[in-house]
Amino acid sequence: MAIGVFVATRPDIIKLTPVIRRMKEESLPFVLIHTGQHYDANMSDNFFGELKLPQPDSFLGAKPETASDVSDLIPRITNFLKKNPLDAVTVLGDTNSAMTVAVSACILFLPVIHIEAGCRSFDRRMPEEINRVLIADCADLHFAPTRQCLKNLIEEKVPGEALFSGHPIVELVEELKPRIERLGRPQGLDQEFVILTLHRPENSDDKEKLGFILRSFGRIQMPVIFPVHPRTQKNLKLFGLYDKVPKNVQLVEPLGYLEMLRHIRYAHFVATDSGGVQQEAFLLGTPCLTIRRTFDWPETLEAGINFLANPEMPGFEDTIVAIANAADSIRMRFKNVENIFGGTNASKIIVDKIKQQQFFRDSSL
Ligand code: UDP
Repeated sequence: MAIGVFVATRPDIIKLTPVIRRMKEESLPFVLIHTGQHYDANMSDNFFGELKLPQPDSFLGAKPETASDVSDLIPRITNFLKKNPLDAVTVLGDTNSAMTVAVSACILFLPVIHIEAGCRSFDRRMPEEINRVLIADCADLHFAPTRQCLKNLIEEKVPGEALFSGHPIVELVEELKPRIERLGRPQGLDQEFVILTLHRPENSDDKEKLGFILRSFGRIQMPVIFPVHPRTQKNLKLFGLYDKVPKNVQLVEPLGYLEMLRHIRYAHFVATDSGGVQQEAFLLGTPCLTIRRTFDWPETLEAGINFLANPEMPGFEDTIVAIANAADSIRMRFKNVENIFGGTNASKIIVDKIKQQQFFRDSSL
């Protein structure tokens, strides 16, 4: 039998890379299942190649436009789980896909392993927050990426076992750091620049808000490189905002992973609503401005290297200008920051623990 490892989105593929590689190295039987959410070249295909991952064993074929729709995912996932005997399922994070896999597996009495468990914003308006809590209720093994996440899980008295593993992204970023240093600054960007990503529904689904966020970056005198997520691209077109973007904001196609990390590493600061990009900014020593209502990684806020800017509150534009002015001094604070996401052994902790489980029936390991 085998462990079913489910991926749906670009961050799933990136963040699970060290775990999938370690499972392969240690000959832990697994099958890789892609539910479909980000199944296009820029958001998925290219990453399997770039990160040297095995191609998925199964595609559940949800179309990008319906793949985050739980009612479409439930029958696909349930049918797959009924037809393909597994020892357990592994999901990461807080997507609708991860939640649907966890709930479906739980109903079928299959053990659930949750990686990046215990992350909380305590904001129930975020669909991801609801997903995280539901997954936690279904999971048998919870791998917490930070001590705060572990504390959240303990306080919630989640079922099963919760432990601190650190975050597997640390391994991948550490592995790629020497290549990023060798490559140096991204081509054509010898001056200071900002890297911006935006894709959360709270920012990208509202015409006024999306327009306001992008206009606000016109207040700073440096290029803002903006690799546009497909969801945001669709809305920019729909809202007629493409030609209303300030001149210094450069819309580009989604970047490959190494190129993305290179931009984060050399940026004056990072502006994002992505959880993963915040972590990467932290690991690469670049100040970060988080464009959200609430925060997933409070430890980075406490360390004074990540800042929350809520576009719904007064002062949003001033915060962008303030971070641009203070970025060099903020950068100095990284010297004193402890590694909240753990060391480069998260995948080892995760795979070793899975191998010890009663539910895992391959006694040859
Ligand atoms: N990313 C990338 N190319 C891009 C934009 C993002 O490789 O053009 C990576 C980024 O470095 C991070 C992940 O994609 O590892 C974040 O994905 P996303 O913003 O879709 O999701 P989230 O982190 O919010 O779950």
